[in-house]
Amino acid sequence: MSNESAKAQTSSLPENSNFLRQIIDHDLAKGVYVNRQDNEGKSLPAVITRFPPEPNGYLHIGHAKSICLNYGLAQDYDALPSGGRCHMRLDDTNPTKEDVEYVDSILDAVRWLGFDWNHQGKEHLYYASDYFGFLYEFAEILIKNGKAYVDSQSAEEIHQNRGNFSSPGINSPYRNRSAQENLELFQKMRAGEFADGTQVLRLKIDMAQPNIVMRDPVIYRIRHAHHHRTGDQWCIYPLYDFTHCISDALENVSHSICTLEFENNRPLYDWILENLKECAVFKGPLPRQYEFARLNLTYTITSKRKLLQLVEEKRVDGWDDPRMPTIVGIRRRGYTPESIRLFCERIGVSKADSWIDMSVLEQALRDDLDARAPRATAVLKPLKLVIQNYPEEKKELCSAPKHPHHPEWGKREFHFGRELWIESDDFQVNPEKGFFRLYPPKDGAPGGRVRLRHGFVIECTGMKLDSTGKVVEVYANYFPDSKSGTPDSNNYKVKGNIHWINVSEAVPAQIRLYEHLFTDPQPDSGEKNYLDFINPASKQVIEAFVEPSISSTQAEDRFQFERHGYFVADRYDYKPGRLVFNRSVGLKDSWK
Ligand code: ATP
Ligand code: MG
Repeated sequence: MSNESAKAQTSSLPENSNFLRQIIDHDLAKGVYVNRQDNEGKSLPAVITRFPPEPNGYLHIGHAKSICLNYGLAQDYDALPSGGRCHMRLDDTNPTKEDVEYVDSILDAVRWLGFDWNHQGKEHLYYASDYFGFLYEFAEILIKNGKAYVDSQSAEEIHQNRGNFSSPGINSPYRNRSAQENLELFQKMRAGEFADGTQVLRLKIDMAQPNIVMRDPVIYRIRHAHHHRTGDQWCIYPLYDFTHCISDALENVSHSICTLEFENNRPLYDWILENLKECAVFKGPLPRQYEFARLNLTYTITSKRKLLQLVEEKRVDGWDDPRMPTIVGIRRRGYTPESIRLFCERIGVSKADSWIDMSVLEQALRDDLDARAPRATAVLKPLKLVIQNYPEEKKELCSAPKHPHHPEWGKREFHFGRELWIESDDFQVNPEKGFFRLYPPKDGAPGGRVRLRHGFVIECTGMKLDSTGKVVEVYANYFPDSKSGTPDSNNYKVKGNIHWINVSEAVPAQIRLYEHLFTDPQPDSGEKNYLDFINPASKQVIEAFVEPSISSTQAEDRFQFERHGYFVADRYDYKPGRLVFNRSVGLKDSWK
């Protein structure tokens, strides 16, 4: 390839640069994966990545980082002559922990995030279990070439003889079985002639290697278990390290990107592929593994096992509880795919482990929704306001823009009247210093004056208390010439500006207010038990009122409730006639 065409293949946008792009650019410049063909002779993109979740749980925000990274790289390079695509692969080699329910939810989550596995009209959806036949065949080839052996030690003995960081391992007494004997034993393993745990297939590498991963790793074990896709066809199952690199090579993956905890496994990844290449199973160029730092997000946990525990112990309302960091959870909370992609872009990719503050995720949602979410009014803690000088039977049309920057979206309409709901927080009997909203007249001084947004200016004249001293009604007079949008309205200068809903047209709504699920920013770090830090106030359900214009919205529609934050009509519980909204995020970061 000429220098010129090599250059044209590389992405050189500095603002998008990360170490993976540099690696890919370097490979492209050297022509490593260019001009490849698949088995049918069709030309292959020079960049093939994959997202390989194990279907043993729901995807979470950490996976979103990996999805955005793998699919994002493929998309970007696909816009260049190099071409790029990202495979969706279910790494379903463990028959006992996996479930179709998880497969469906994983595919759904990736699509919802805005990605798919279609490239030039072909679906690239793969299952590691579809490779069981190849994996078995390749294991036999390794055996025949003296590179693998059947070990009849117990699991306990294998563990003991593996050694540790300071001492080398001890060779298995079965390590020098002949290729023929190994082959026969392996075939008997497959035929179901042995019980679980009695034999394993191991690679013959080196029991004295400093890297323990390389001390004759186990690549097959016996499991008489039903698999959700292959049924009872197999009673031996390949392990991750063996399956993963071979799946990558079978799919012509070029850059196999995973999280840092697999760094020690990289020599094994290379060993397996290079030895299979030596045995003429694969020809080059082989895929390469690269590691990046996983996402750690404050006030949350991203371990599938721990998330499962939260669900099973009913500490949350299921996988899609809006407090969960699962994709289904944050979707239900009101996050948009765009906001998640923006978040992933902002946090970038590096090789150094770090914690990302939850506020970064929340800000990404605000930044996305500010421009897109229509405005509306909701009164969360209703207190009745009576306009004493406003006739009982009278009402007057008021309006407000659906979005302050999108006049073309039109207006929402509602009526001013004598009885209105206001927020109880907008009234104080004894106003604290700097409180510019409603308070009663006192010692000859007038009561508080405010503008009722998109309505009139009012002045507080008093209140009614119940027998316990609680405020049950607030009274005010209005100024008829102060209506918003009329010429005289500017004559009234007021410091407070509060929202309201006419009692006669307020629509009841259930509103769920969510806070962080944990009280500790790193609930599972070190010796901590995350269950000790569950925030008891993380979910509060209230009955509130919303303005009439949004009573006929749809599930998953998002709004900014003015002065409160961003809310979403609940994906499942919102019904015409029963409005349910979740608070996605407040207007400001209240956690700093
Ligand atoms: P398990 O413990 O079940 O293996 P896992 O979180 O590694 O859990 P996988 O299904 O194996 O789950 O993950 C699929 C892909 O997502 C992997 O490539 C993994 O590296 C990546 N991934 C998982 N968690 C994170 C995270 N917190 N940040 C970034 N990537 C992640
Ligand atoms: Mg994993």
